[in-house]
Amino acid sequence: MNKRLSIGILGGGQLGMMLCQAAKEIGIYTHIYCPDEDSPAKHFSNKFTCQDYLNEKEIINFSNSVDIITYEFENIPKETLELISNKKLRPGIKSLEQTQDRLVERKLLEKLDIPCAPYKELKNKNDFNNAITHFDNAIIKTRRFGYDGKGQIGVSQKTICDDNISALFNQSIVEKKIPFEFEFSQVSCRDIFGNVFHFPLTKNIHENHILKHSYAPLNLSNDFETNAKEITSKIITNLDHVGVLAVEFFKTKENILVNEIAPRVHNSGHWTIEGCSESQFKVHMQAVSGAKITQPKLLNECHMVNLIGEEINEWAKKKSDNEVKIHLYHKNEIKKGRKMGHLTYIKDKRID
Ligand code: ATP
Ligand code: MG
Repeated sequence: MNKRLSIGILGGGQLGMMLCQAAKEIGIYTHIYCPDEDSPAKHFSNKFTCQDYLNEKEIINFSNSVDIITYEFENIPKETLELISNKKLRPGIKSLEQTQDRLVERKLLEKLDIPCAPYKELKNKNDFNNAITHFDNAIIKTRRFGYDGKGQIGVSQKTICDDNISALFNQSIVEKKIPFEFEFSQVSCRDIFGNVFHFPLTKNIHENHILKHSYAPLNLSNDFETNAKEITSKIITNLDHVGVLAVEFFKTKENILVNEIAPRVHNSGHWTIEGCSESQFKVHMQAVSGAKITQPKLLNECHMVNLIGEEINEWAKKKSDNEVKIHLYHKNEIKKGRKMGHLTYIKDKRID
């Protein structure tokens, strides 16, 4: 009898949790490595190691214990990945290197001739003054470790360059605030043979800088939709990425602009669990395990709602039914702004 394939996952949050759930369905053994005991994924993985990412010995043991390693968030230290053989790591180190620093990511987009918001590197007061003069309303964004809008400050021509701002010099970019019509994302997947497929587009609404609602499928006029898919194919192929990758876009009046690349499964793809024949989590696990992937079918129109902080209390004891599926992340501590679970409303059965 063949030994079950085992996949190690760096990171143990809700994305890791849903990867483990999907792996179980397709008979893959999972081993989570993360430094946090309060890990949603540990409840669903076959094995759990709670250690620091920079613990060399433990990372090597982890690596030796599994066939393949993937990651569920982009802020894994590069040093950690360097301890893992390139052959075992999917997606590879390039996907992470090119996306965990916003400045490097912007340079990649420029190299690939992909439109994004105008930006400047923020090194000193001069850069700040130039940016607010040129951009009027702008957003300072930390180059590394930002998520859910953390590490971002909105600025305008009236903003004084105080200590809070000068503390961000040399580690941030400042970009023009885009008066977008709406935001959307493209979640796509590439297999080891270079095949790329795309899930339907998703429209996203943020509240307090945190994703709150995703609606799928989003029907964009054909040119924009083709363009979003071409841009995503260009990025995923250039990175030689294996697995799922998501691109966040702004839709402006005339164009689409890339806001961010996530080299992993993405919150705006959670609806695919109920909405598609195969979820983003399942195809990610299939792709990293070396399988040839096929295009999942759209089954249902969905509306995903994130449950943030105390909102979880209203749903924790309710049961899923045919109209709404409740996903709890089993986090011990409720914190303001923390993603605690999500709901998927199944809007329309069977779209053919
Ligand atoms: P997340 O982890 O949720 O993706 P993040 O902290 O990585 O967030 P961004 O995706 O860059 O940061 O920004 C979060 C949100 O802030 C965006 O989805 C958008 O609503 C808003 N935003 C970011 N940049 C701009 C911009 N240039 N113009 C207008 N709004 C912006
Ligand atoms: Mg974002």
